[in-house]
Amino acid sequence: MTTRFAPSPSGRLHLGHAYSALFAYEQAMQAGGRFLLRIEDIDITRCKREFEDGIKEDLAWLGLTWEEPVLRQSDHFARYEAFLHSLEEAGLTYPCFCTRREIQAEVDNAPRAPHGPDGALYPGICKHRPKAEADDLIAQGTPHAIRLHMDKAAKLAGPLTFTDRSLGQIAVDPESCGDVVLARKDVPTSYHMAVTIDDALQHVSLVTRGEDLLHATHVHRVLQALLGLPEPVYHHHPLLTDETGKRFAKRDKAPTLQALRESGHSPDDVRALIQLRRPKSLV
Ligand code: GLU
Repeated sequence: MTTRFAPSPSGRLHLGHAYSALFAYEQAMQAGGRFLLRIEDIDITRCKREFEDGIKEDLAWLGLTWEEPVLRQSDHFARYEAFLHSLEEAGLTYPCFCTRREIQAEVDNAPRAPHGPDGALYPGICKHRPKAEADDLIAQGTPHAIRLHMDKAAKLAGPLTFTDRSLGQIAVDPESCGDVVLARKDVPTSYHMAVTIDDALQHVSLVTRGEDLLHATHVHRVLQALLGLPEPVYHHHPLLTDETGKRFAKRDKAPTLQALRESGHSPDDVRALIQLRRPKSLV
């Protein structure tokens, strides 16, 4: 069995990350399997090398070991582009020139706009743009993302399921995520593409991650089917919460492992804190 911890180096790790990393590590160790660390730094404006170093420092301090070399996603843009190209060739994508503001305005004008777990789904503004017009805009250098044409993709993939070790077998609902972005305006890939491709190429057989990403697995399963990639087993774990019941998150300035270490906490203290904070339902 192979598991992985795949943080984005856009800040220092907090207790929630420590829980997630230990969870993946322990699943692999219990099964006599492999544990990988993957650096998910496709957001090149927010991700920094110093945070990548910090992640390694914090995980090593916690006592985790991982296989080298560590895959850094920003080193593999060409690989993601090749997979994207195969979806483009199959007519399953379209360029999207919308700005966030245009998308929001469209959604505001359509009170019944379908919503997914991340808010309103993309309202399809660019979906039916004639190809010649899109080609012109691209030729003029207009920034654009590439989106998945989800109806076509779902039709081609047929009915799908995925297996979650705690939730059982789940039927994929492709429409719930809409026409997700496969390549952003600034980078030739997206979280959905990079994570699906790397989990497959790194032979990750058990994908463990927080339940906040459960909705993304629907998209990843569709992409696996379209790209002919193997299907891992999943384990979406509940998220660690603070004493007020709120999730740990970077934006809330949750205490970082670095701060805990510098204020005299030991790795055992961190493990004890995690035990204390974990939801009762947690494995
Ligand atoms: N890189 C993602 C994050 O930091 C996690 C990716 C995943 O586990 O699928 O939230």
